[in-house]
Amino acid sequence: MTIDTKLIAEKLARKHLKNLVPYESARRLFSGAESKQQTIWLNANESPYSPQYEVDTIFFNRYPDCQPADLINAYATYSGVEKNQLLCSRGADEGIELLIRAFCEEKQSHILICPPTYGMYAISAESLNVDAKKAPLNSDFSLDLELIKSYKGEVNLVFICSPNNPTGNTVADQQIKAVLEYFADSALVVVDEAYIEFSPENSWVKALNDYPNLVILRTLSKAFGLAGLRCGFVLANQSIIDILMKVIAPYPVPAPVAQIAAKSLNNNGIKQMRAHVSELNQQKAQLIDALEQIGDVDIVTQSAANFVLIKHPRCSDLFTYLKERNILIRDQSKQLRLAGCLRITIGDESQNSQLINEIKAFEKL
Ligand SMILES: *Cc1c(COP(=O)(O)O)cnc(C)c1O
Repeated sequence: MTIDTKLIAEKLARKHLKNLVPYESARRLFSGAESKQQTIWLNANESPYSPQYEVDTIFFNRYPDCQPADLINAYATYSGVEKNQLLCSRGADEGIELLIRAFCEEKQSHILICPPTYGMYAISAESLNVDAKKAPLNSDFSLDLELIKSYKGEVNLVFICSPNNPTGNTVADQQIKAVLEYFADSALVVVDEAYIEFSPENSWVKALNDYPNLVILRTLSKAFGLAGLRCGFVLANQSIIDILMKVIAPYPVPAPVAQIAAKSLNNNGIKQMRAHVSELNQQKAQLIDALEQIGDVDIVTQSAANFVLIKHPRCSDLFTYLKERNILIRDQSKQLRLAGCLRITIGDESQNSQLINEIKAFEKL
């Protein structure tokens, strides 16, 4: 008898997965396997700089600690929280998933998202059979507080991304405060600070002791230039961390990851990260200046992150033109309110100037 694997897989798969479309990550759209050298990667908000590290393999025959102490100590010091307010995960993405697994009941509880925003909140929820309610951002990309408040009692988690991906703007302190207070007794408010190193003054980390329902997500994937490492953090009060510890895998942080991540957080690593951030922030200002000189390009918002969102009347032609010249950026035109919009990660000086030259050439067509 021949067994049709597709048939058995589809017969047994959980029903709610039938229509689930996995996250179209920049890397799924364009694999890094081919042509890493020639291509200019400005589509995943990665750093153009790759720090070098060595690992010590001596204990690789042993399972690692669930939460490696060196790493937790280093991130606690760097971020200014207590060690018991910290959880290390396989990227901030795993943090998102753990929060939904730990705090939402499938088919009953909901999360609240504010699109246009990071896609993984909704996809993670969907894969766990949890519905995402939506409170779209206002046209200036601020939170629609009245709409958000109307979901009180219906949602267990409220995701706020600040600086927001893909718009780049930060959410005003007053607005986040209002959400934290309004949902104080009914929902956790998750502030995703994946890009916070590019505008550290906007962090909510100091408020952790004032708000028992505040959760902050962090990552080494962006400013630290370690997207390939898969290392992120959840910052929250201890009782929240304790619950997440119930659902996390027994060995979530591979030993080489823990070693490299801890090194990236020593004085030297942090100094290097800050130098890169300062260079990228300068490059961002220059890139924006140059883009503003190009008649058809509109800068959509002030960006507090390592990318800019632009609007162009021929956005899909521009996207394709750049792609054919091995410059990859991210098409955001299908997101709510972002018709005609493209997101460009800030690269190094040479990458940015090649990008500008190609856009100018496109304009002459
Ligand atoms: C990149 C990104 C993440 C994911 O970070 P990882 O640590 O690489 O999983 C989370 N949130 C936002 C807003 C991001 O842009």
